[in-house]
Amino acid sequence: MNKKYIPLAVNGGIGFGSWLKPKQLLVLGEYLEEDQEIELTTLQQLIVKVPEDELEEVKRKFEEEGLHYYKVGNYVKSLRTCNFCKGEEEEGMPVAKELNRRISGKEVPFTLRPAYTGCPIGCGEPLINDIGVMKKKEHYEIYIGGQSKGQNAQVGKLIADKLEPDKLYDIVDKILDIYYQNGRKREKFSRFINRYGFEDIKKEIFNKN
Ligand code: SF4
Repeated sequence: MNKKYIPLAVNGGIGFGSWLKPKQLLVLGEYLEEDQEIELTTLQQLIVKVPEDELEEVKRKFEEEGLHYYKVGNYVKSLRTCNFCKGEEEEGMPVAKELNRRISGKEVPFTLRPAYTGCPIGCGEPLINDIGVMKKKEHYEIYIGGQSKGQNAQVGKLIADKLEPDKLYDIVDKILDIYYQNGRKREKFSRFINRYGFEDIKKEIFNKN
């Protein structure tokens, strides 16, 4: 019988830049076939395929070594971040980690890429990702609908600003919920916004508050 493999997107979690330690690479090697290819994505993730019958053990081992893993497919991807060059607290790293914990892996009509950046310089490119969060002084802004690829490339629009962390989580949840409930199968988020209407999404979010 052919062995079944499950793809996982793996990275070292949110921190100052994207790093993997030698011990983490060894763990990755331990569970992969010798000739298996590992894909390196533009989202700071490695895509590995692990044997289904070893999945739980692999996850446990990954967690022990501080490797983060995410589902592959039509889910919210792990939060792409900037390098937090001005410091963990000042740039809101705990908020980025919490946001990532809440939203990554949520089911959506089409793969959704969220991004976070610790200041308006915007190294995390929040305006050209599906959902972009920007820390501005003590508060947070949310942009939606950015797209970097193709002839329909567009800049995300500001949907909410001056947010405290709890409000930020709440509004991102609502945005994802509206997309999940109303998006067509495999409809990209930016296309969904253009069809459904940015202003209608905004109205729905703030009516719910
Ligand atoms: S967005 Fe700001 S805090 Fe983040 S890496 Fe760039 S300059 Fe540093």
